[in-house]
Amino acid sequence: MKRESEFATHLPFLCQHWSPAQFPELREEFFATDVASDLRLTPGQVADFLSQPGWAMAYSGHQFGQFLPMLGDGRALLAAEVTHTDGTLIDVHLKGSGRTPFSRGGDGKAPLAPMWREVIYSLALHHLQIPTTRALAVYSTGEKIQRQLPENGAVLVRTAASHIRVGTFQFAARQGEDNVRALCDYAIARHYPGLNYQEFFQAVVRAQMRTVAQWMRFGFVHGVMNTDNTTISGETIDFGPCAFTDTYNPQAVFSSIDTQGRYQFGNQPAIVGWNLARLAECLLPLIGMEFAQKEMNNFGANYHDVWMDELAQALGISHADPALSAEVSSDWIAFLHHSQLDITTSMRALSENKEVNAGAFALEFDAWRLRWESLNPNKELMRGINPVYIPRNHMVEHALEQYVRHQDRDLLDQLIKVVCNPYQRNPNWVEFEQPTPEEFGPHRTFCGT
Ligand code: AMP
Ligand code: MG
Repeated sequence: MKRESEFATHLPFLCQHWSPAQFPELREEFFATDVASDLRLTPGQVADFLSQPGWAMAYSGHQFGQFLPMLGDGRALLAAEVTHTDGTLIDVHLKGSGRTPFSRGGDGKAPLAPMWREVIYSLALHHLQIPTTRALAVYSTGEKIQRQLPENGAVLVRTAASHIRVGTFQFAARQGEDNVRALCDYAIARHYPGLNYQEFFQAVVRAQMRTVAQWMRFGFVHGVMNTDNTTISGETIDFGPCAFTDTYNPQAVFSSIDTQGRYQFGNQPAIVGWNLARLAECLLPLIGMEFAQKEMNNFGANYHDVWMDELAQALGISHADPALSAEVSSDWIAFLHHSQLDITTSMRALSENKEVNAGAFALEFDAWRLRWESLNPNKELMRGINPVYIPRNHMVEHALEQYVRHQDRDLLDQLIKVVCNPYQRNPNWVEFEQPTPEEFGPHRTFCGT
């Protein structure tokens, strides 16, 4: 196993060699055989990462709009870089591995339930074909850590195309132009080989637009879209207080810390644009003011095109005239918005030629359906990209509660199977299809930091 880091070798000003904490009793809770085999890693090799030194990565970030120059891996370490069977270099990263020079007031630890949440949501996004970091393994540490209540500690091992974030560029920009250039050269070589600086910026923008448009299609609310949680690769990262909104509700907020609703469902496209404008600022010496301004001025229109393309695919009408398909797609979203029908159930019903129970909105729905059907939607294609199952909030919370509080893993194991098979209806999984019941009430999610 290679024990040096290409990132650390090229960009020493962006990391510190550091050892994980020692844990009393590590126990494997979860292991993703598919992820491991793509990286040719055995369970033993993965477990060994927890006892070997790695690198704490430095970054800055705008958290809820406020700039913090010194964030970094406060409870995480880059453990290794390994080569995927497809030839790309992949980061193996620990979360909950103890204090680092970036820990500030924190204990560097992570509780078990939020690490399992990351497993559930990253699996769900991966199987919905949304770019995301992957969960490779979770270990309980045998340690009690102090939160509101004492919690069992855990370490998550996750993989990513890289952990370079907008916040990494913000950190480098404060160290001067040479360092931004070094980071940018590295990021280009690793993620967008052959592109120049301007093309690099455009590629990051396009990757992030696509990811966020996909979130929007399924109702995913990330919850903490700080610039340090916005990757250069376009991968979704840091599943803290995330959740799915069942209905198209732009005001949906689940995170207990997002009191102003900055990261509410409907704000996500604008927020990623804002974060990318921060990246543009870091890159100004490399891409020039005029170019940066032009790109950012076009952001809204370009995002709209990506969004329309995403919806046309979901509605099986990519082959139709773009103007017509955009009109039908926009009207569908407007309909989902004011009818507040369940996004997943409705999209799947369209794919399966089933009735959509539109209640008071039946007339409007029927009129829309006629226009949509006239475009000859490809329903077979739709069934491969419109899921039957998403991780419904009440199921996630029940599964975690059952396991963490009552040591009963059955529901959690079943939920993991469900999110890994979102497109195939299974007669045993009827309860996983149901929208979150009203009595579940307004759902609140926590970072677990
Ligand atoms: P996150 O909300 O996970 O994206 O983390 C934001 C920042 O807070 C990062 O710099 C983390 O490393 C840091 N952080 C979160 N939790 C802890 C913790 N328990 N101990 C130390 N640092 C933490
Ligand atoms: Mg983060």
